[in-house]
Amino acid sequence: MKSINLLGSTGSIGVQTLDVARTHGYKIEALTAHSSVEVLEKQIREFKPRYAALVDEAAAADLKARVADLPVKVLSGLEGVSFCAAEGEGNITLNSVVGMAGLKPTVDAINAGKTIALANKETLVAGGKLVTDAAKKNSVDILPVDSEHSAIFQCLLGKPRNSALKRIILTASGGPFFGKTKEELKTVTLADALKHPSWSMGQKITIDSATMFNKGLELIEAVWLFDVDPDMIDIVVHRESIVHSLIEYDDNSVIAQLGHPDMRLPIQFAITYPDRFESPEKQLDLWEVGNLSFYKPDYETFPCMDICRNAIKKGGLYPAAVNCANEEANLLFRQGKISFCDIPVLIERAAEFTSNNDNYSLQDVYDTDALMREKVRQLAGF
Ligand code: NAD
Ligand code: MG
Repeated sequence: MKSINLLGSTGSIGVQTLDVARTHGYKIEALTAHSSVEVLEKQIREFKPRYAALVDEAAAADLKARVADLPVKVLSGLEGVSFCAAEGEGNITLNSVVGMAGLKPTVDAINAGKTIALANKETLVAGGKLVTDAAKKNSVDILPVDSEHSAIFQCLLGKPRNSALKRIILTASGGPFFGKTKEELKTVTLADALKHPSWSMGQKITIDSATMFNKGLELIEAVWLFDVDPDMIDIVVHRESIVHSLIEYDDNSVIAQLGHPDMRLPIQFAITYPDRFESPEKQLDLWEVGNLSFYKPDYETFPCMDICRNAIKKGGLYPAAVNCANEEANLLFRQGKISFCDIPVLIERAAEFTSNNDNYSLQDVYDTDALMREKVRQLAGF
């Protein structure tokens, strides 16, 4: 029976993962979150994990008192999350932490031989070489949870003998600002940016979808997951979010995976693989969907896609740099301190301070993170 160490259990992906576990009766061995005591307590009472961790020390102390009647061991800090990532009993670690904080737990889980179900894309973007090298060394599978990468993974399962992949086509919803001009973007607000047309997600990724930085992150994620050249990846805007991504073979045959936008399907497939089980996803009714539309992305109005493509082409610490600069700029925007159009400008200017290093360590990634956050704040005037 599969059992899961779930990191980031109180977030959008975390809660949907627990839905999947509830449906199929998967055992949850460990649950972690940043500081949401009440939600985590409820989850512990329902799923009865052996371990739980909160990053925030005071919140962890509160949780410990609240669940003193249960056998669960409550840990704290990032070490607590790392312990839960690598914990002995779970055979899958599903990482749905948001941001760079997920990197060390992913590496720890890989080194402990856990199969990784990965939602935390920032992990692969910032530490791609470290993560994939560790996975190879430990013969560990990294199974994508991100819907586009799950789609590509599913399309590739039928890869014929002697066939070569020619292109990956990532679909993008286009976010709430699809069709807007540069001029119009100057006055958009946080509330506007949080209105995603097709997916309900955590705030950070929702803003990344509005800037299209999310698609840039996904391009880099695809480079690492599928070992392809960045120029083999195209992006197509597809407003209905029904086609989750496509692959093209050398004979120009194109294979796609379709379904309603419901993250429980890719989450479930990352857990059940190589099996498929019934899922709560609504059956696709193409008559009801009617039309599917596809557009070229507006790279000039949404420069974040090219910022990411250029970063992975440069290699080394550049992907980490743009990811970390974006994390800080995204946060400053959510705090109302900068405008929407400042985000790509700050990322590009901060990333100029990166010193390249193809043979980087985990510490180099953390140093880049600290430097980028400082530079973004400085450049923004804080
Ligand atoms: P979210 O903000 O809803 O949840 C994040 C979770 O991580 C929470 O449980 C939170 O407590 C925990 N967390 C936050 N900061 C932390 C820290 N410093 N250390 C440890 N834990 C911390 O985010 P989400 O929308 O669920 O997204 C999670 C990840 O999945 C992101 O990397 C996102 O890009 C990716 N993703 C999300 C979706 C989606 O539909 N939400 C789709 C594809 C990929
Ligand atoms: Mg996605």
